[in-house]
Amino acid sequence: MSSLLVDDIGELVTNEPGGEGGPLGIRRGVALLVEDGRVAWIGPSRDAPAADRRLDARGAAVLPGFVDSHAHLVFAGDRAAEFAARMAGQPYTGGGIRTTVGATRAAGDDELRATVRRLRDEALRQGTTTMEIKSGYGLTVADEARSLRIAAEVSEETTFLGAHVVPAEYADRPDDYVGLVCGPMLAAAAPHARWIDVFCERGAFDVDHARAILACGQAVGLGVRVHANQLGPGPGVQLGVELGAASVDHCTHLTDADVDALASTRVDGGHTTVATLLPGAEFSTRSPYPDARRLLDAGVTVALATDCNPGSSYTSSMPFCVALAVREMRMTPAEAVWAATAGGARALRRDDIGRLGVGALADLIVLDAPSHLHLAYRPGVPLIRQVLRNGVLQ
Ligand SMILES: [Zn+2]
Repeated sequence: MSSLLVDDIGELVTNEPGGEGGPLGIRRGVALLVEDGRVAWIGPSRDAPAADRRLDARGAAVLPGFVDSHAHLVFAGDRAAEFAARMAGQPYTGGGIRTTVGATRAAGDDELRATVRRLRDEALRQGTTTMEIKSGYGLTVADEARSLRIAAEVSEETTFLGAHVVPAEYADRPDDYVGLVCGPMLAAAAPHARWIDVFCERGAFDVDHARAILACGQAVGLGVRVHANQLGPGPGVQLGVELGAASVDHCTHLTDADVDALASTRVDGGHTTVATLLPGAEFSTRSPYPDARRLLDAGVTVALATDCNPGSSYTSSMPFCVALAVREMRMTPAEAVWAATAGGARALRRDDIGRLGVGALADLIVLDAPSHLHLAYRPGVPLIRQVLRNGVLQ
């Protein structure tokens, strides 16, 4: 059993009851002991137990590692030209997904694997210790299965998104494609996936198709997540609530009924459906941001994630999303940091990550800053000094 003492912590964000800063549960003057990859003890530095090794935080802030609960990393090619065209005034329609599908199908396994690992490592350097990874650029039985197989090599949080768009070869017969997704594609994907997701949006999958696909996934034991209400109002959010989704993602265009439905999932005893906001997508498509304030004020649990993908949000940076959430979505720095850590954990229905308490995984980041406030206060600055994952310095 090896132990590591993280000492001289200026500010420890625990996301646990007690401490300062409301839900952040900030503690000062404490040390944190890691044993066998988990947090074994937190207490005043002067009472710290002996340990095999010591990590001196030199007065910096220590936070739970970021939990990025929404990313699309299995793809080939990029769409920089499409981004440039958009910045020159072209609207975003989601149609570019098919461009990436073509490139992904043509790529070898090693090329896809290299991209997934490159982006995963890039995120880790920016403090992300858990990253959900979706399929969705293969859209054949074999390509979806291999996408998830490759994703599962680097993450246990893998999501089958065969219902990302209807591929071109099924454009005239979407019912047949839904049958393929629910039948052989799901059978091939499920062994490598924890979750199922659908892009429920005009131009992608309507509510009946989305409900059918998600129900098939639930029937084989997958948890539900939904891409909903990104490009316009629609039934996706309420469908997610109806099915007990862990998270509905985007939530850019919401009615009062959508907000009420999300808020109603907080009742004790049942699971919460989290609203996961993806401000990188609005940034990269130059679209209005979701109204985080309205959700928070209604009591909805909010998470932040990157939506890392080559079309609409090619960032792997959770600190960037925190800064956007504060500046553009009227979240306080504390709310944004909570949403990027504990919120992401709730969106993945995990209680061993996104917090630093005894028993939690020792996934943590040491900032090059004295306070979590600096993540939004100093946007674009590389503030992640050290990252521990399962107690191991990365
Ligand atoms: Zn997405």
